[in-house]
Amino acid sequence: MSKGTVLTVVGARPQFVKSAVVSRAFSMQGQLTEKIIHTGQHFDDNMSRIFFDELNIPEPVWHLGIGGGSHAQNTGRAMEAIEKIILEEKPEFVLVYGDTDSTLAGALAAAKANVPLAHVEAGLRSFNRVMPEEVNRVLTDHVSTLLFTPSEVATKNLANEGIKGEQVINVGDVMYDAALIFGKIAEQKSSILKSLKLEPKGFVLATLHRKENTDNFSRLNGILAGLGTSERVVVLPLHPRTKNRILESGIVVPKNVMVIDPVGYLDMLMLERNAFMVATDSGGVQKEAYFQGVPCVTLRDETEWVELVELGVNKLVGASAAAIQDALKVSRFPDVALNMYGNGDSSMRIVEAVERSIDRRRASEK
Ligand code: UDP
Repeated sequence: MSKGTVLTVVGARPQFVKSAVVSRAFSMQGQLTEKIIHTGQHFDDNMSRIFFDELNIPEPVWHLGIGGGSHAQNTGRAMEAIEKIILEEKPEFVLVYGDTDSTLAGALAAAKANVPLAHVEAGLRSFNRVMPEEVNRVLTDHVSTLLFTPSEVATKNLANEGIKGEQVINVGDVMYDAALIFGKIAEQKSSILKSLKLEPKGFVLATLHRKENTDNFSRLNGILAGLGTSERVVVLPLHPRTKNRILESGIVVPKNVMVIDPVGYLDMLMLERNAFMVATDSGGVQKEAYFQGVPCVTLRDETEWVELVELGVNKLVGASAAAIQDALKVSRFPDVALNMYGNGDSSMRIVEAVERSIDRRRASEK
């Protein structure tokens, strides 16, 4: 018999990857019923549907279809819709991931309805409040009941804000679970190298979608010019927002940059694994490069994953063409262990901790 319902709120691509392994753990463990709310923040087939299909994510029970508005509009509308679902479903827990507007909407709706909230990927900080993601993270952490951190640094960040104790659990990173579980499947199913005619270690893989880069044409231009200096092909699966901004700006994409549509996660894993180097402003892709033992240059001025920079596997280069040019020349991955983010059992530990918390609450209510 189910011990109750957990409502999971997702909406954007990185959340599909993270939630896939936790949903898998929920169904393997079998004691709680998970029901998924998809806010609709990402809705294109190649930004949403493909992840549900390839990663076997249970079909969302609710599709809110909310997207396209401002940050406040999206957050407000999602909050209203999620509150209604919470009041009807009376879940034991609400589960949110990462740092998007969907995360914050789920968090605030749960907190105000007095439903326990679990935040997966808690404690990350860029210390740059201009980033919409940073505001979402800080607020979500401060209303969470359980905070699942992926790293020691994240746990320390929370402690510095006064959030500590047994509600903070360093479970490692669910994205490592995902890379391990789906890496094997990707080897069998993906034919992306062949279809793009790429040689292993013969290309650079790039992704670009952070607002601070896409909406600032001088940075956008610097990054594309920097990628253009590589003597290798640079494969760029292009996020829809970046595509629109490039078109608006009139910036010409350099010849060696191979722009392709966003790819599914299995293809992405194969591109990462076989890249000479990764260049990205994505949070998730920085870590995935490390999981695959591939050096990464980060196209930002700061990162939440500072331990990768300290380890020497990730280099912060910002948006300067010259700095990117230098960084793309030599691919060197130091001899370091690849398990800094846990053992691949983060998703199981999350499910167990949620269940323990429910048991404890019930026991205290008796
Ligand atoms: N990803 C993907 N296809 C792509 C680009 C990214 O499957 O074309 C995956 C990537 O492997 C990672 C996740 O999407 O698991 C990261 O999402 P994104 O970069 O959009 O967000 P961030 O991690 O910066 O929050």
